[in-house]
Amino acid sequence: MLELQQHDEIDPLCPFCDTPLSQLWFSELRGMMGKRYVYFCPHCAKVIGISHRKGFWMG
Ligand SMILES: [Zn+2]
Repeated sequence: MLELQQHDEIDPLCPFCDTPLSQLWFSELRGMMGKRYVYFCPHCAKVIGISHRKGFWMG
């Protein structure tokens, strides 16, 4: 059993540029499959995740 703990005091690191992320930028994509949101690092602009719905991580 893996325990999930919330730690808002630590900023997650970008997996690409190792910069602490105090913000995550996103952009809306529209296409045949409907709307998608692409989340990316504001420092290196690499894509961290894509979601079907705003605010839902990798959902
Ligand atoms: Zn980055």
